[in-house]
Amino acid sequence: MNVARQLYQLQELDLEIESDQRALGQVTGQLGESQAVLRAKAQLDSEQQRLEELKHQQHTAEWEIDDITTRIATAEESLFGGRIKNPKELASLQHEVETFKTRRDGLEEKALEVIDQVEQAEASLAEIKSRLEGLTADWQRQQKQLAEEQARLEAAIAELKQKRQLLSEQIEPQAVELYQALKKGKGRAVARVEQGICRGCRISLPTTDLQRARGSNLVQCSSCGRILFLP
Ligand SMILES: [Zn+2]
Repeated sequence: MNVARQLYQLQELDLEIESDQRALGQVTGQLGESQAVLRAKAQLDSEQQRLEELKHQQHTAEWEIDDITTRIATAEESLFGGRIKNPKELASLQHEVETFKTRRDGLEEKALEVIDQVEQAEASLAEIKSRLEGLTADWQRQQKQLAEEQARLEAAIAELKQKRQLLSEQIEPQAVELYQALKKGKGRAVARVEQGICRGCRISLPTTDLQRARGSNLVQCSSCGRILFLP
């Protein structure tokens, strides 16, 4: 077989390997933690903490209400029990009961506000939980697909490399060396010739070069130096 054709095939394999390796790099880069899942988990933690604080506030308020209710009952017992006759003392007790009741009204108002906030936090927590479940399921699905794609690309690259090995063994070593050197310097070592033009540098080739390239000789473009391949 024409050496230029073999080198062109080698280049096709190299391009395919490079493209698969780029794809593999992208796939590997996407494997791992999901920022969206991590953010949702952090939100869940902070909302859970907020809910616990609110519940603590609610219990404290309820406990204070119970306590003050007991105090009111005790004061009212003394007030209406008939044992205390001193008007000054009675007035003072009356005042105490009123103060307690005002305070209890305030505490009850505060407790209602907290209960409202607890309900809101519980709803928000449920929303975050369901969002997190969705995100986690999406992420797991995506990771599975990526892992499959990774395995597919790795297998494809291994197969291409094997093909490349077999092909390069069939080509004369000097030609492979030239190919490698040109590839290193120019990216692509072999240029197709179409309508007498080198596709590597788009210059019109002299007829003599075209004739030589048509034979079994290895001919390099006089302008860009690439190996010429006439399909
Ligand atoms: Zn050229």
